[in-house]
Amino acid sequence: MTSCSRALPIAHRTWQPVRVPQQASPWPRISHLPRAELEALQRAELRRYVTQELYPFSAHYRKMFDAAGVKPTDIREVADLARLPFTTKKDLLEAQIDPERKRDFVLIPSPTAIKRHWPLRRKLGLLFGGQAAKDGVAFDYTPNFLTFTTGRSSEPVGFAYTPHDLERMGEIGGRMLDVHAIHDRQARILNMFPFAPHLAFWQVTFAGFRTGRLILPTGGGKLMGTAGNLKMAERMKPTVMLGVPGFVYHLLREAAERRADLSAVKLVILGAEKVTPGLKLKMAEALATCGARDVVISGTYGFTEARMAFGECPAAYEESPGYHTYPDLGVFEVIDPVSGKVLGEGETGELVFTPLGGHGTVVCRYRTGDLAVGGISYEPCKWCGRSVPRISNELRRASDQKDLDLTKIKGTLVDLSHIGTVVSGIAEVEEWQVVLKKIHDDPHELDEFVLRLSLEAGADPVASEKKIRQMIVDATEVSPNRIEFHSTKEMLELIGMETEMKEKRFLDLRPK
Ligand SMILES: [Zn+2]
Repeated sequence: MTSCSRALPIAHRTWQPVRVPQQASPWPRISHLPRAELEALQRAELRRYVTQELYPFSAHYRKMFDAAGVKPTDIREVADLARLPFTTKKDLLEAQIDPERKRDFVLIPSPTAIKRHWPLRRKLGLLFGGQAAKDGVAFDYTPNFLTFTTGRSSEPVGFAYTPHDLERMGEIGGRMLDVHAIHDRQARILNMFPFAPHLAFWQVTFAGFRTGRLILPTGGGKLMGTAGNLKMAERMKPTVMLGVPGFVYHLLREAAERRADLSAVKLVILGAEKVTPGLKLKMAEALATCGARDVVISGTYGFTEARMAFGECPAAYEESPGYHTYPDLGVFEVIDPVSGKVLGEGETGELVFTPLGGHGTVVCRYRTGDLAVGGISYEPCKWCGRSVPRISNELRRASDQKDLDLTKIKGTLVDLSHIGTVVSGIAEVEEWQVVLKKIHDDPHELDEFVLRLSLEAGADPVASEKKIRQMIVDATEVSPNRIEFHSTKEMLELIGMETEMKEKRFLDLRPK
Protein backbone atom coordinates (compact mmCIF):
# COMPACT_ATOMS: atom_id res chain seq x y z
CA MET A 1 0.00 0.00 0.00
CA THR A 2 1.25 3.41 -0.77
CA SER A 3 0.74 6.26 1.55
CA CYS A 4 -0.51 9.48 0.13
CA SER A 5 -0.70 11.25 3.42
CA ARG A 6 2.76 12.69 3.20
CA ALA A 7 3.07 15.67 0.96
CA LEU A 8 5.64 15.42 -1.73
CA PRO A 9 8.67 17.57 -1.05
CA ILE A 10 8.52 20.78 -3.03
CA ALA A 11 11.63 21.58 -4.87
CA HIS A 12 12.48 25.03 -3.60
CA ARG A 13 14.17 26.99 -6.27
CA THR A 14 15.39 30.45 -5.58
CA TRP A 15 15.37 33.11 -8.20
CA GLN A 16 18.64 33.52 -10.07
CA PRO A 17 19.44 36.36 -12.42
CA VAL A 18 19.70 35.20 -15.98
CA ARG A 19 22.92 36.45 -17.49
CA VAL A 20 22.16 36.86 -21.12
CA PRO A 21 25.46 36.42 -22.92
CA GLN A 22 25.99 39.61 -24.88
CA GLN A 23 27.37 39.48 -28.34
CA ALA A 24 30.80 41.03 -28.47
CA SER A 25 30.52 44.43 -30.10
CA PRO A 26 31.86 44.65 -33.66
CA TRP A 27 32.69 48.30 -33.00
CA PRO A 28 36.43 48.06 -32.19
CA ARG A 29 36.94 46.29 -35.54
CA ILE A 30 34.47 48.31 -37.61
CA SER A 31 35.70 51.67 -36.36
CA HIS A 32 39.15 51.04 -37.85
CA LEU A 33 38.21 49.38 -41.16
CA PRO A 34 39.58 50.86 -44.39
CA ARG A 35 37.10 53.00 -46.31
CA ALA A 36 36.45 50.42 -49.05
CA GLU A 37 35.54 47.79 -46.47
CA LEU A 38 33.28 50.21 -44.61
CA GLU A 39 31.48 50.99 -47.83
CA ALA A 40 31.07 47.29 -48.64
CA LEU A 41 29.65 46.68 -45.17
CA GLN A 42 27.27 49.63 -45.56
CA ARG A 43 26.13 48.39 -48.96
CA ALA A 44 25.37 44.90 -47.62
CA GLU A 45 23.47 46.31 -44.63
CA LEU A 46 21.50 48.70 -46.83
CA ARG A 47 20.40 45.91 -49.21
CA ARG A 48 19.43 43.64 -46.32
CA TYR A 49 17.57 46.34 -44.45
CA VAL A 50 15.61 47.70 -47.42
CA THR A 51 14.57 44.28 -48.79
CA GLN A 52 13.90 42.43 -45.52
CA GLU A 53 12.66 45.14 -43.14
CA LEU A 54 11.87 48.57 -44.54
CA TYR A 55 9.91 47.69 -47.66
CA PRO A 56 8.05 44.61 -46.36
CA PHE A 57 7.09 45.98 -42.93
CA SER A 58 6.70 49.77 -43.25
CA ALA A 59 3.38 50.86 -44.73
CA HIS A 60 4.72 54.35 -45.44
CA TYR A 61 7.84 53.22 -47.30
CA ARG A 62 6.06 50.48 -49.20
CA LYS A 63 3.72 53.14 -50.57
CA MET A 64 6.61 55.51 -51.23
CA PHE A 65 8.70 52.95 -53.13
CA ASP A 66 5.70 51.91 -55.22
CA ALA A 67 4.75 55.51 -56.00
CA ALA A 68 8.35 56.29 -57.03
CA GLY A 69 8.45 53.13 -59.18
CA VAL A 70 11.45 51.84 -57.20
CA LYS A 71 11.73 48.15 -56.31
CA PRO A 72 13.45 47.38 -53.01
CA THR A 73 16.07 45.39 -54.94
CA ASP A 74 16.86 48.54 -56.96
CA ILE A 75 18.56 50.02 -53.89
CA ARG A 76 21.99 48.43 -54.22
CA GLU A 77 24.27 51.34 -53.31
CA VAL A 78 24.03 54.34 -51.00
CA ALA A 79 23.88 56.49 -54.17
CA ASP A 80 20.64 54.68 -55.16
CA LEU A 81 18.88 56.29 -52.17
CA ALA A 82 18.69 59.44 -54.30
CA ARG A 83 15.91 57.70 -56.26
CA LEU A 84 13.65 58.02 -53.20
CA PRO A 85 11.93 61.17 -51.93
CA PHE A 86 12.94 62.64 -48.57
CA THR A 87 10.99 62.21 -45.35
CA THR A 88 10.35 65.40 -43.39
CA LYS A 89 9.14 66.30 -39.95
CA LYS A 90 5.89 67.38 -41.61
CA ASP A 91 5.35 63.84 -42.95
CA LEU A 92 5.73 62.49 -39.42
CA LEU A 93 3.38 65.06 -37.91
CA GLU A 94 0.72 64.42 -40.54
CA ALA A 95 0.90 60.65 -40.09
CA GLN A 96 0.71 61.03 -36.34
CA ILE A 97 -2.60 62.89 -36.31
CA ASP A 98 -4.27 60.59 -38.84
CA PRO A 99 -5.69 57.55 -37.02
CA GLU A 100 -5.44 55.53 -40.26
CA ARG A 101 -1.75 56.31 -40.70
CA LYS A 102 -0.64 56.46 -37.10
CA ARG A 103 1.48 53.33 -37.37
CA ASP A 104 2.65 53.86 -40.96
CA PHE A 105 6.24 54.52 -39.87
CA VAL A 106 6.37 51.50 -37.53
CA LEU A 107 7.76 48.19 -38.83
CA ILE A 108 4.93 45.68 -38.52
CA PRO A 109 5.74 42.18 -39.81
CA SER A 110 2.95 40.06 -41.30
CA PRO A 111 3.12 36.36 -42.29
CA THR A 112 2.51 37.30 -45.93
CA ALA A 113 5.27 39.88 -45.99
CA ILE A 114 7.69 37.51 -44.29
CA LYS A 115 6.81 34.78 -46.79
CA ARG A 116 7.34 37.10 -49.71
CA HIS A 117 10.42 39.05 -48.64
CA TRP A 118 12.58 37.10 -46.22
CA PRO A 119 15.35 34.90 -47.63
CA LEU A 120 14.86 31.14 -47.41
CA ARG A 121 17.37 30.68 -44.60
CA ARG A 122 15.59 33.17 -42.38
CA LYS A 123 12.19 31.66 -43.20
CA LEU A 124 13.41 28.15 -42.41
CA GLY A 125 14.68 29.38 -39.06
CA LEU A 126 11.20 30.65 -38.34
CA LEU A 127 9.49 27.54 -39.69
CA PHE A 128 11.56 25.01 -37.75
CA GLY A 129 12.15 27.16 -34.69
CA GLY A 130 8.69 26.28 -33.36
CA GLN A 131 6.74 28.53 -31.03
CA ALA A 132 9.92 30.02 -29.58
CA ALA A 133 10.92 31.43 -32.98
CA LYS A 134 7.43 32.88 -33.51
CA ASP A 135 7.49 34.43 -30.04
CA GLY A 136 10.94 35.77 -30.85
CA VAL A 137 9.63 37.67 -33.87
CA ALA A 138 6.73 39.08 -31.86
CA PHE A 139 9.14 40.12 -29.09
CA ASP A 140 11.66 41.72 -31.46
CA TYR A 141 9.05 43.79 -33.30
CA THR A 142 6.57 44.78 -30.59
CA PRO A 143 7.21 48.33 -29.33
CA ASN A 144 7.75 48.58 -25.58
CA PHE A 145 9.29 52.04 -25.20
CA LEU A 146 8.96 55.55 -26.66
CA THR A 147 10.94 58.74 -26.82
CA PHE A 148 9.59 62.03 -28.14
CA THR A 149 10.92 64.94 -30.15
CA THR A 150 11.24 68.16 -28.17
CA GLY A 151 9.27 70.57 -30.28
CA ARG A 152 8.95 74.16 -29.20
CA SER A 153 6.35 75.06 -31.78
CA SER A 154 5.02 71.72 -33.01
CA GLU A 155 3.50 68.68 -31.35
CA PRO A 156 6.06 66.18 -30.07
CA VAL A 157 6.41 63.14 -32.33
CA GLY A 158 6.73 59.74 -30.66
CA PHE A 159 9.38 57.23 -31.73
CA ALA A 160 8.78 53.61 -30.76
CA TYR A 161 11.50 51.16 -29.71
CA THR A 162 11.22 47.39 -29.39
CA PRO A 163 13.34 45.14 -27.12
CA HIS A 164 15.60 44.68 -30.17
CA ASP A 165 16.10 48.45 -30.35
CA LEU A 166 16.79 48.79 -26.63
CA GLU A 167 19.57 46.21 -27.00
CA ARG A 168 20.87 48.36 -29.81
CA MET A 169 20.65 51.49 -27.68
CA GLY A 170 22.99 49.74 -25.21
CA GLU A 171 25.40 48.87 -28.01
CA ILE A 172 25.37 52.50 -29.22
CA GLY A 173 25.92 53.73 -25.66
CA GLY A 174 28.97 51.47 -25.43
CA ARG A 175 30.28 52.92 -28.68
CA MET A 176 29.83 56.47 -27.35
CA LEU A 177 31.80 55.69 -24.19
CA ASP A 178 34.53 54.22 -26.40
CA VAL A 179 34.67 57.31 -28.66
CA HIS A 180 34.78 59.60 -25.60
CA ALA A 181 37.63 57.40 -24.31
CA ILE A 182 35.86 56.44 -21.09
CA HIS A 183 37.83 53.21 -20.83
CA ASP A 184 38.31 53.20 -17.06
CA ARG A 185 35.92 50.68 -15.50
CA GLN A 186 36.04 52.78 -12.32
CA ALA A 187 34.67 55.84 -14.15
CA ARG A 188 31.93 57.66 -12.22
CA ILE A 189 29.49 59.37 -14.57
CA LEU A 190 27.07 62.07 -13.42
CA ASN A 191 24.13 62.21 -15.84
CA MET A 192 22.49 65.63 -15.55
CA PHE A 193 20.21 65.32 -18.59
CA PRO A 194 16.57 65.91 -17.59
CA PHE A 195 14.48 62.89 -16.65
CA ALA A 196 12.20 62.84 -19.69
CA PRO A 197 11.12 60.59 -22.54
CA HIS A 198 13.93 62.16 -24.58
CA LEU A 199 16.83 60.43 -26.29
CA ALA A 200 19.70 62.08 -24.36
CA PHE A 201 18.77 60.83 -20.89
CA TRP A 202 18.05 57.27 -22.05
CA GLN A 203 21.05 56.98 -24.34
CA VAL A 204 23.33 57.72 -21.39
CA THR A 205 21.39 55.45 -19.06
CA PHE A 206 21.57 52.53 -21.47
CA ALA A 207 25.30 53.15 -21.97
CA GLY A 208 25.74 52.50 -18.26
CA PHE A 209 23.43 49.47 -18.18
CA ARG A 210 25.26 47.82 -21.07
CA THR A 211 28.84 48.57 -20.08
CA GLY A 212 28.45 48.15 -16.33
CA ARG A 213 29.74 51.66 -15.64
CA LEU A 214 28.47 53.67 -12.70
CA ILE A 215 26.03 56.27 -13.95
CA LEU A 216 24.15 58.41 -11.48
CA PRO A 217 21.17 60.35 -12.88
CA THR A 218 20.24 63.62 -11.16
CA GLY A 219 17.37 64.45 -13.51
CA GLY A 220 18.82 67.90 -14.21
CA GLY A 221 18.09 71.32 -12.73
CA LYS A 222 14.31 71.12 -12.69
CA LEU A 223 14.25 67.97 -10.61
CA MET A 224 16.94 68.56 -8.01
CA GLY A 225 17.81 72.23 -8.39
CA THR A 226 21.33 73.51 -8.86
CA ALA A 227 22.14 72.94 -5.17
CA GLY A 228 20.95 69.33 -5.34
CA ASN A 229 22.99 68.58 -8.44
CA LEU A 230 26.05 70.17 -6.87
CA LYS A 231 25.60 68.25 -3.63
CA MET A 232 25.33 65.02 -5.63
CA ALA A 233 28.50 65.93 -7.56
CA GLU A 234 30.43 66.65 -4.38
CA ARG A 235 29.30 63.39 -2.83
CA MET A 236 29.88 61.19 -5.88
CA LYS A 237 33.15 62.79 -7.02
CA PRO A 238 32.36 62.12 -10.70
CA THR A 239 35.12 61.66 -13.26
CA VAL A 240 32.67 62.46 -16.07
CA MET A 241 29.84 65.03 -16.10
CA LEU A 242 27.13 65.05 -18.76
CA GLY A 243 24.33 67.48 -19.50
CA VAL A 244 23.01 70.28 -21.69
CA PRO A 245 25.56 73.11 -22.11
CA GLY A 246 23.41 75.83 -20.48
CA PHE A 247 22.84 73.90 -17.28
CA VAL A 248 26.36 72.46 -17.03
CA TYR A 249 27.88 75.93 -17.43
CA HIS A 250 25.54 77.36 -14.79
CA LEU A 251 26.34 74.50 -12.39
CA LEU A 252 30.10 74.91 -12.86
CA ARG A 253 29.84 78.65 -12.23
CA GLU A 254 27.94 77.97 -8.99
CA ALA A 255 30.50 75.32 -8.06
CA ALA A 256 33.37 77.76 -8.65
CA GLU A 257 31.66 80.42 -6.52
CA ARG A 258 31.32 77.97 -3.65
CA ARG A 259 34.79 76.51 -4.23
CA ALA A 260 33.22 73.06 -4.48
CA ASP A 261 35.58 70.11 -4.85
CA LEU A 262 35.24 68.69 -8.38
CA SER A 263 38.89 67.69 -8.61
CA ALA A 264 38.11 64.16 -9.90
CA VAL A 265 36.45 65.48 -13.11
CA LYS A 266 38.42 64.58 -16.24
CA LEU A 267 35.75 64.88 -18.91
CA VAL A 268 32.64 66.98 -19.55
CA ILE A 269 30.27 65.81 -22.29
CA LEU A 270 27.70 68.24 -23.61
CA GLY A 271 24.57 67.32 -25.51
CA ALA A 272 22.11 68.98 -27.78
CA GLU A 273 23.87 72.16 -28.91
CA LYS A 274 27.05 73.24 -30.57
CA VAL A 275 29.66 74.44 -28.09
CA THR A 276 32.18 77.15 -29.00
CA PRO A 277 35.81 77.27 -27.84
CA GLY A 278 34.78 80.39 -25.84
CA LEU A 279 32.20 78.46 -23.81
CA LYS A 280 34.63 75.56 -23.32
CA LEU A 281 37.23 77.99 -21.93
CA LYS A 282 34.69 79.50 -19.52
CA MET A 283 33.79 76.01 -18.30
CA ALA A 284 37.47 75.03 -17.99
CA GLU A 285 38.15 78.12 -15.88
CA ALA A 286 35.33 77.27 -13.49
CA LEU A 287 36.52 73.65 -13.31
CA ALA A 288 40.06 74.80 -12.51
CA THR A 289 38.73 76.83 -9.58
CA CYS A 290 37.15 73.60 -8.33
CA GLY A 291 40.46 71.73 -8.55
CA ALA A 292 39.92 70.01 -11.93
CA ARG A 293 42.65 70.81 -14.46
CA ASP A 294 43.11 69.78 -18.09
CA VAL A 295 39.51 68.63 -18.35
CA VAL A 296 38.46 67.43 -21.81
CA ILE A 297 35.21 69.06 -22.98
CA SER A 298 33.46 67.27 -25.85
CA GLY A 299 30.21 67.58 -27.73
CA THR A 300 27.63 65.08 -28.93
CA TYR A 301 25.08 65.10 -31.72
CA GLY A 302 21.95 63.04 -31.70
CA PHE A 303 18.31 63.29 -32.66
CA THR A 304 15.15 61.45 -31.78
CA GLU A 305 14.49 60.43 -35.39
CA ALA A 306 17.80 58.53 -35.62
CA ARG A 307 17.28 56.98 -32.18
CA MET A 308 21.01 57.30 -31.63
CA ALA A 309 23.70 59.84 -30.79
CA PHE A 310 27.29 60.38 -31.89
CA GLY A 311 30.24 61.69 -29.90
CA GLU A 312 33.54 63.48 -30.35
CA CYS A 313 36.82 61.93 -29.28
CA PRO A 314 39.00 64.03 -26.94
CA ALA A 315 40.68 67.07 -28.55
CA ALA A 316 41.92 70.56 -27.65
CA TYR A 317 39.28 73.23 -26.89
CA GLU A 318 39.78 75.14 -30.11
CA GLU A 319 39.61 72.01 -32.26
CA SER A 320 36.82 69.61 -33.04
CA PRO A 321 37.26 66.09 -34.36
CA GLY A 322 33.61 66.02 -35.43
CA TYR A 323 30.90 63.53 -34.52
CA HIS A 324 31.96 59.92 -35.14
CA THR A 325 29.21 58.01 -36.93
CA TYR A 326 28.42 54.26 -37.03
CA PRO A 327 28.50 53.32 -40.73
CA ASP A 328 27.05 49.85 -40.08
CA LEU A 329 23.98 51.35 -38.35
CA GLY A 330 23.14 54.31 -40.55
CA VAL A 331 23.98 56.41 -43.60
CA PHE A 332 24.32 60.18 -43.70
CA GLU A 333 23.91 62.03 -46.97
CA VAL A 334 24.64 65.75 -47.34
CA ILE A 335 22.27 67.63 -49.62
CA ASP A 336 21.74 71.10 -50.98
CA PRO A 337 18.84 72.29 -48.80
CA VAL A 338 17.21 74.13 -51.70
CA SER A 339 17.60 71.79 -54.69
CA GLY A 340 17.80 68.53 -52.69
CA LYS A 341 20.81 67.48 -54.77
CA VAL A 342 23.28 65.14 -53.03
CA LEU A 343 26.59 66.90 -52.39
CA GLY A 344 30.14 65.57 -52.32
CA GLU A 345 32.61 64.88 -49.54
CA GLY A 346 33.45 67.91 -47.38
CA GLU A 347 30.73 70.09 -48.92
CA THR A 348 28.46 72.15 -46.69
CA GLY A 349 24.85 71.01 -46.74
CA GLU A 350 21.87 69.60 -44.85
CA LEU A 351 22.28 66.22 -43.17
CA VAL A 352 19.92 63.47 -44.29
CA PHE A 353 19.76 60.23 -42.29
CA THR A 354 18.83 56.66 -43.23
CA PRO A 355 19.11 53.88 -40.65
CA LEU A 356 20.54 50.49 -41.63
CA GLY A 357 18.87 48.61 -38.81
CA GLY A 358 16.32 48.85 -36.07
CA HIS A 359 12.63 48.05 -35.63
CA GLY A 360 9.82 50.18 -34.18
CA THR A 361 9.49 53.66 -35.72
CA VAL A 362 11.79 54.01 -38.71
CA VAL A 363 12.40 57.00 -40.99
CA CYS A 364 14.43 56.78 -44.19
CA ARG A 365 16.15 59.70 -45.96
CA TYR A 366 15.10 61.91 -43.08
CA ARG A 367 15.86 65.61 -43.52
CA THR A 368 17.35 66.68 -40.20
CA GLY A 369 17.17 70.42 -40.86
CA ASP A 370 20.80 70.58 -39.64
CA LEU A 371 23.29 72.21 -41.96
CA ALA A 372 26.79 70.79 -41.46
CA VAL A 373 29.40 73.41 -42.33
CA GLY A 374 32.15 71.40 -44.00
CA GLY A 375 29.85 68.39 -44.34
CA ILE A 376 31.23 64.94 -43.61
CA SER A 377 34.87 63.89 -43.53
CA TYR A 378 35.85 60.35 -44.57
CA GLU A 379 39.55 60.70 -43.66
CA PRO A 380 40.70 58.76 -40.60
CA CYS A 381 40.41 60.94 -37.48
CA LYS A 382 43.75 62.56 -36.68
CA TRP A 383 42.99 62.49 -32.94
CA CYS A 384 41.87 58.87 -32.43
CA GLY A 385 42.66 57.13 -35.73
CA ARG A 386 39.14 55.77 -36.24
CA SER A 387 38.15 55.54 -39.90
CA VAL A 388 34.38 56.11 -39.58
CA PRO A 389 32.78 59.12 -41.32
CA ARG A 390 32.74 62.20 -39.10
CA ILE A 391 30.16 65.00 -39.18
CA SER A 392 31.45 68.56 -38.85
CA ASN A 393 30.60 69.92 -35.42
CA GLU A 394 29.64 73.25 -36.93
CA LEU A 395 25.90 72.75 -37.29
CA ARG A 396 23.40 75.42 -38.26
CA ARG A 397 19.71 75.28 -39.02
CA ALA A 398 19.22 74.57 -42.70
CA SER A 399 15.48 74.82 -42.99
CA ASP A 400 12.45 75.41 -40.84
CA GLN A 401 12.42 71.70 -40.02
CA LYS A 402 13.29 72.40 -36.44
CA ASP A 403 10.68 74.56 -34.82
CA LEU A 404 11.44 78.14 -34.11
CA ASP A 405 15.14 78.11 -34.67
CA LEU A 406 14.96 79.71 -38.05
CA THR A 407 12.77 82.76 -37.95
CA LYS A 408 12.29 86.12 -39.57
CA ILE A 409 13.27 89.09 -37.45
CA LYS A 410 12.56 92.48 -39.00
CA GLY A 411 12.14 90.69 -42.34
CA THR A 412 15.53 88.92 -42.28
CA LEU A 413 15.75 85.17 -41.92
CA VAL A 414 17.80 84.52 -38.77
CA ASP A 415 19.14 81.30 -37.26
CA LEU A 416 18.33 81.77 -33.57
CA SER A 417 20.53 78.94 -32.39
CA HIS A 418 23.46 80.69 -34.05
CA ILE A 419 22.80 83.81 -31.95
CA GLY A 420 22.93 81.50 -28.91
CA THR A 421 26.23 80.02 -30.03
CA VAL A 422 27.74 83.48 -30.48
CA VAL A 423 26.48 84.97 -27.21
CA SER A 424 27.29 81.95 -25.00
CA GLY A 425 30.87 81.97 -26.26
CA ILE A 426 31.54 85.57 -25.12
CA ALA A 427 33.91 85.56 -22.14
CA GLU A 428 32.12 88.10 -19.90
CA VAL A 429 28.55 86.85 -20.55
CA GLU A 430 27.18 84.69 -17.75
CA GLU A 431 23.56 84.19 -18.87
CA TRP A 432 21.50 85.29 -21.86
CA GLN A 433 18.04 85.21 -23.41
CA VAL A 434 16.63 86.39 -26.73
CA VAL A 435 13.15 87.96 -26.69
CA LEU A 436 11.20 88.65 -29.88
CA LYS A 437 8.06 90.76 -29.66
CA LYS A 438 6.09 93.47 -31.37
CA ILE A 439 6.74 97.11 -30.46
CA HIS A 440 4.20 98.20 -27.79
CA ASP A 441 2.81 94.62 -28.08
CA ASP A 442 0.84 95.89 -31.07
CA PRO A 443 0.45 93.04 -33.62
CA HIS A 444 0.62 95.54 -36.50
CA GLU A 445 3.84 97.07 -35.28
CA LEU A 446 7.40 96.21 -36.21
CA ASP A 447 9.38 93.34 -34.69
CA GLU A 448 11.41 94.08 -31.61
CA PHE A 449 14.53 92.06 -30.86
CA VAL A 450 15.68 92.29 -27.25
CA LEU A 451 18.77 90.59 -25.88
CA ARG A 452 18.81 90.07 -22.12
CA LEU A 453 22.20 89.49 -20.53
CA SER A 454 24.01 89.16 -17.26
CA LEU A 455 27.73 89.92 -17.14
CA GLU A 456 30.43 88.60 -14.85
CA ALA A 457 31.48 90.84 -11.96
CA GLY A 458 33.77 93.66 -13.04
CA ALA A 459 32.73 93.68 -16.72
CA ASP A 460 32.03 97.09 -18.26
CA PRO A 461 28.44 97.14 -19.60
CA VAL A 462 29.06 100.00 -22.04
CA ALA A 463 32.06 98.37 -23.71
CA SER A 464 30.38 94.95 -23.65
CA GLU A 465 27.18 96.23 -25.23
CA LYS A 466 29.10 97.75 -28.14
CA LYS A 467 31.12 94.58 -28.70
CA ILE A 468 28.16 92.18 -28.40
CA ARG A 469 25.96 94.25 -30.69
CA GLN A 470 28.65 94.17 -33.37
CA MET A 471 29.15 90.38 -32.98
CA ILE A 472 25.42 89.76 -33.45
CA VAL A 473 25.22 91.99 -36.51
CA ASP A 474 28.22 90.17 -37.99
CA ALA A 475 26.60 86.80 -37.34
CA THR A 476 23.00 87.56 -38.34
CA GLU A 477 22.84 90.94 -40.12
CA VAL A 478 20.23 92.00 -37.57
CA SER A 479 20.93 94.35 -34.69
CA PRO A 480 19.05 94.01 -31.39
CA ASN A 481 16.70 96.91 -30.66
CA ARG A 482 17.81 96.76 -27.05
CA ILE A 483 20.36 94.98 -24.90
CA GLU A 484 19.06 94.76 -21.34
CA PHE A 485 21.36 93.96 -18.44
CA HIS A 486 20.09 91.93 -15.50
CA SER A 487 21.70 90.28 -12.50
CA THR A 488 22.60 86.62 -13.02
CA LYS A 489 20.01 85.70 -10.38
CA GLU A 490 17.27 87.53 -12.35
CA MET A 491 18.44 85.92 -15.56
CA LEU A 492 18.26 82.43 -14.08
CA GLU A 493 14.63 83.10 -13.17
CA LEU A 494 13.80 84.49 -16.62
CA ILE A 495 15.39 81.45 -18.26
CA GLY A 496 13.71 79.04 -15.84
CA MET A 497 17.00 77.30 -15.10
CA GLU A 498 15.52 75.39 -12.18
CA THR A 499 11.86 75.40 -13.14
CA GLU A 500 11.72 74.47 -16.82
CA MET A 501 12.48 71.14 -18.48
CA LYS A 502 14.24 73.09 -21.20
CA GLU A 503 15.79 76.50 -20.55
CA LYS A 504 13.84 79.37 -22.12
CA ARG A 505 16.64 80.86 -24.23
CA PHE A 506 14.38 82.14 -27.00
CA LEU A 507 11.04 83.77 -26.25
CA ASP A 508 8.93 84.58 -29.27
CA LEU A 509 6.06 86.72 -27.96
CA ARG A 510 4.89 87.84 -31.38
CA PRO A 511 1.34 86.82 -32.25
CA LYS A 512 1.33 83.78 -34.55
ZN1 LIG B 1 38.45 60.72 -33.36
